[in-house]
Amino acid sequence: MKKLVKNARVFDGRHEILTEHASIVIDGDLVEEITQETLPEESFGQVTDAGNRIVIPGLVDHHVHLGMPGKDMRVDEAVVHGVAHAKRMLLNGFTTVRDAGGIVYGIKKGIDDGRVPGPRVFPSNAYISQTCGHGDKRESRAHVRLSDGSFTSPALTCGETVIADGYDEVLRATREQLFLGASQIKIMAGGGMSSQYDPIQTIQFTEHEMRAAVEAAADYGTYVMAHLYTKESMLRAARAGVKSFEHGQMLDEELAKIVRDEGIFLCVCPQPRADEEFNAARGLPPRKRKPAAQEIIDHEDVQTEMILKYDLPIIFGTDYVEFIADSNPNAQSRDLAVYEKRFGSFRGLVSATGAANDLIKLTTYQNPYPQGKIGLLEQGSFADLLIVDGDPIGSLSVLSNTENLRVIMKGGEIYKNTL
Ligand SMILES: [Zn+2]
Repeated sequence: MKKLVKNARVFDGRHEILTEHASIVIDGDLVEEITQETLPEESFGQVTDAGNRIVIPGLVDHHVHLGMPGKDMRVDEAVVHGVAHAKRMLLNGFTTVRDAGGIVYGIKKGIDDGRVPGPRVFPSNAYISQTCGHGDKRESRAHVRLSDGSFTSPALTCGETVIADGYDEVLRATREQLFLGASQIKIMAGGGMSSQYDPIQTIQFTEHEMRAAVEAAADYGTYVMAHLYTKESMLRAARAGVKSFEHGQMLDEELAKIVRDEGIFLCVCPQPRADEEFNAARGLPPRKRKPAAQEIIDHEDVQTEMILKYDLPIIFGTDYVEFIADSNPNAQSRDLAVYEKRFGSFRGLVSATGAANDLIKLTTYQNPYPQGKIGLLEQGSFADLLIVDGDPIGSLSVLSNTENLRVIMKGGEIYKNTL
């Protein structure tokens, strides 16, 4: 039987104006219609009274890592952690995530099959790195890795990351991720904050190598997302055809115009905690920042200014990693308040809802959920929605407090209800 959410003030994911006194009719896992007519309740199998609260599309986090065992975890441990992590994301109100690399295939399948609760997942599968790149996780044995070709690391053997050098290897690595069902490809195109052997300023992959990933992805109807911070990395990635910049803190006027003209999405992932919290979460003393880290962090103000000035397409992303979530489960929700501060409430909210619908168009037939619209709340959307206390359009940070999420529904199923 169909389900009904009544007395709703509906935010559709794109427009600031709400549909007042609305009823949302749900058939299976889809929104059949949203109407202001009064409907006979007895014809519905389930009626939820939103009590004149605002109802928004389920949130989308475009940069998470569900399964990232890193240096010291077995695969089975990592998967158990990933399953718990997925549930936590759903209860933070995120009904869809884009996984930015890691072991995710089985977790995604388990969620889609209804075995474990979690968001819809757009998987990248392993992130692709060059030797000595941000994803080269053999770091703890640097002295061995050059002398002994057999040396590897858990992150490599379990498929969290894959190392590829040269056009042919990148081509193969990309196709392997597609073979496992990747909806987009993740590459490491520049140095990282947290990794040990690649200074932040390093540019990773030649343009030719990046093109291998872009071309193989394009042949399968999809796109490449790239981890990068620096100007040169971004210029190179843009030339190669990368369509989603992850982090991208060193954005300037020249780049802003390129991003706008090439239709590149920006997933800024609020940065400072990546450095500070990684170690705090692992119970280690604060790590000394890499020399360029402060410059990157300080440049976020310019990045914000450029995004607003050129009205660049931003997508909400947090880099929510399991071991951070362990010590701070609120890290994902908290970033909504950061987005509010940087881009304004409405802009921030759209980046976590309606913007997903635009991004997903780039995945074409690699979209694992083609039956419904994601990030929107309208006819033909998945019935992924949140009934909230407060006004997230006026103040996005109300969603940072998960107690304000009174109902969490995904695919027509209620996962939380405190009404
Ligand atoms: Zn990441």
